Amino acid sequence: MIPVPGYESRRVAVFGLGRSGITAARALAAGGAQPVLWDDSVSGRMQAQAEGFVVEDLTTADWSGFAALVLSPGAPLTHPRPHWTVDKARAAGVPVIGDLELFARAVAALPQSERPRVVAITGTNGKSTTTALIGWVLKSAGLTVHVGGNIGIGVLALPEPTADAVYVIEASSYQLDLTDSFAPDVAILTNISPDHLDRHGDMEGYVAAKRRIFTHARLALVGVDEQWGREIADTLSQRVIAISSSALPREGGDPVLSSGHDVADQRRAASQSSERPKNWVPAFAGMSGIEAVPGVIRIQDQGIDLSAARSLPGRHNAQNAAFAYAAARAVGVSHEQAVEGLLTFPGLAHRMETVGRLGELSFINDSKATNADAARQALASYERVFWIAGGRAKEGGIEALRDLFPRIARAYLIGEAADDFAATLDAAPHVVVRTMEAAVQAAAANAGAVGGPQVVLLSPACASFDQYPDFEARGEAFRAAVLNLGAAPEPSA
Ligand code: ADP
Repeated sequence: MIPVPGYESRRVAVFGLGRSGITAARALAAGGAQPVLWDDSVSGRMQAQAEGFVVEDLTTADWSGFAALVLSPGAPLTHPRPHWTVDKARAAGVPVIGDLELFARAVAALPQSERPRVVAITGTNGKSTTTALIGWVLKSAGLTVHVGGNIGIGVLALPEPTADAVYVIEASSYQLDLTDSFAPDVAILTNISPDHLDRHGDMEGYVAAKRRIFTHARLALVGVDEQWGREIADTLSQRVIAISSSALPREGGDPVLSSGHDVADQRRAASQSSERPKNWVPAFAGMSGIEAVPGVIRIQDQGIDLSAARSLPGRHNAQNAAFAYAAARAVGVSHEQAVEGLLTFPGLAHRMETVGRLGELSFINDSKATNADAARQALASYERVFWIAGGRAKEGGIEALRDLFPRIARAYLIGEAADDFAATLDAAPHVVVRTMEAAVQAAAANAGAVGGPQVVLLSPACASFDQYPDFEARGEAFRAAVLNLGAAPEPSA
């Protein structure tokens, strides 16, 4: 756990007693603060009490005595309307922050020479894969690495900082909205497409939250495949490396990187400053853009062949690999070690994960594809696919995937969205089956009857909450149904 200094003997309100709230309270207490906890749910309050925390009704508390409100990322800051604790904090002039901000303050409180390095990752899709991949590449290269944040372990539950450590942190837009001073050495934006608009009001609000990752970042790695990424890359004031799946202009006149960054100037400034960089690789400093196409990433005139990689199929994974390569080089990993790490990455569960094979049929679990844009990546990876989709639909449903419908051998529709998706698919072959079990059985039977190598893909383009607690449970239900057919499980890494 990371103790948070700066609030010694002061009362700090903590609202939302899920995992990250309780961890924040522990970290604050360890730093000498007096956290005051509250949650609408009785069970959260009981857990806090059982741990010996002060639990106080924040609806009636005296807010003038609080140094900060630490808000759970699950509670709305702005939309659809600010949470009542936010209204109370604002009325009393109390800053509203989150666990990422507490982490940033804990790091900033250390003397320069004792600070760890921080790589942070956000984006609509690809955050977890990129975070895990960077963690893997850095660990494989022998660095001391702590991976967490919005993935796995909450950021404040990670081990205490040491000068040699690198924190690799996945940051959601909600968490970024609750930070002011977060200053990663390397900040990554994988991509942006409309998502979570209910919580950010509109696209502008969502993009603004994502952009906050760069406010104090030293180096920006930005996916520029869509307009929002390009606009951000073009207006940042620090060094930018653009990651694109189309050819990037070479030397000079680069429209993406036109913000006037002169690498030589930057290096001069860096060497004159007493601040870091430490371990910035000179060979890396000339890099301004990386192209990522399926199976290859290209940096200047050098290509890295990803076709032998165990778990990086598709254009989107080439993009993730490009981010990981650049981040690894930025924290001092050699070219050879970075490439070795990319090739040996075992992949993450529920993201294009091969869960079993039955004869020539492959069963792919992409349960994490909770929106159409993520499902697009999966569908685009196969010429022909038996596709299981549905759940609780996002705005627009699968309308945006229309150009990929010719790849669908047949779609098997489950969950609440089944009838709507059937209407959208229209003439494309589909069947409404409602449940995962029925979908797997029907898809396996149809694919088997065609013969030859075939792919059965779960990539739902929907949230899971209508039928499952979360996407992991949905993916496990898929895996179980596949194994029940008698499929051979894939050996896990
Ligand atoms: P996140 O943590 O942002 O939700 P994940 O890495 O868990 O992202 O991947 C979620 C889904 O997005 C997966 O289904 C995957 O196929 C797709 N995906 C992964 N990387 C990218 C990318 N770079 N661009 C677009 N989609 C991606």
